[in-house]
Amino acid sequence: MHYSLAKGGESMLLKKREVSSKQRVLEMVERRLPKSHAKYDYFQEMLRRTRAGYAGEQRVDKEWQEIYLQHAHYLLHDVQLKVEGGSIHQMDTLFMSQNFVLIVEIKNIAGRVDYMEDNHQFIRVTSDGRVDGFRNPFDQVKRHARFLHRLFQMSGHHLPIETIVVSANPSMIMSPTFLSQPIIHVSGLAERVEQLFQQHQQVYLSENDLRELSTHILKMHTPTQWTLDIKVDELKKGALCSKCHFDHVLRYTHGKWRCSNCQSIDNQSMLLALHDFRLMVGNNIKNAQFRDFFDIDSEKAAYHLLKKLKFEAIGENKNREYVIPTNLLE
Ligand SMILES: [Zn+2]
Repeated sequence: MHYSLAKGGESMLLKKREVSSKQRVLEMVERRLPKSHAKYDYFQEMLRRTRAGYAGEQRVDKEWQEIYLQHAHYLLHDVQLKVEGGSIHQMDTLFMSQNFVLIVEIKNIAGRVDYMEDNHQFIRVTSDGRVDGFRNPFDQVKRHARFLHRLFQMSGHHLPIETIVVSANPSMIMSPTFLSQPIIHVSGLAERVEQLFQQHQQVYLSENDLRELSTHILKMHTPTQWTLDIKVDELKKGALCSKCHFDHVLRYTHGKWRCSNCQSIDNQSMLLALHDFRLMVGNNIKNAQFRDFFDIDSEKAAYHLLKKLKFEAIGENKNREYVIPTNLLE
């Protein structure tokens, strides 16, 4: 899992970024919600934004790979820390070094942006004059910083905490109101990290303590499950044909999955459907649920299909549940 080898110290990608549960659920919705549904466009737009956000985050992750540092450091992408009481701190990237910690918030916004410091308002004006408000990223990172400060105190460490908002979108134009704010375009990231090492020359943690503290934070990471506010029965069941824009189901006959519309055979469609079932209903599936979902009459045929998948099975006979793995499509 080594990320890059810096000569001066150990450098590790401790946690890589993955497709969010929100994006996975919305991709399932794109396949399964009928296009005539009142909320179809709403979810499509949400998916578009989520994908754009992920692409922006990946753009910034790539920049880190090109940063050469002599200092030992760890990178944790998309860390979600749950506080007692339920509130969540989601940090796009956490950079940990022996001298300081950097909390990175990534924005992928196109257009001219303005910041009104007095009322903490962050707005974007598009080329056609539309004005949109955004969640204030400076308040967001400061909130995370206060949380980390308490966390470090409790574990007996003192470590300076820095914050930065990184724009992944070259077409985001910042007005002069941003001059006094910690925000940069992604191309300036390497230089900013160097500046921070200049500012923080004092070493606060040994390499060992740095590793321990970073692993401690990694252990605290609890991914949140994004939930959908529509009913399961509004979504299409079955194995859906990718060649027919997921509008038609494949039927299981003579040991093959065949599209009821274009007649093509696609045995992989069942795996994608089970992946969707997991997001729609839950991790486990019973023989009866399997038959209902795929519209298969024969209990025996369903049994053989499930058996061939070699999923972990819990319980006996009618109560047997098969555990659908999270990485079914990988
Ligand atoms: Zn088809």
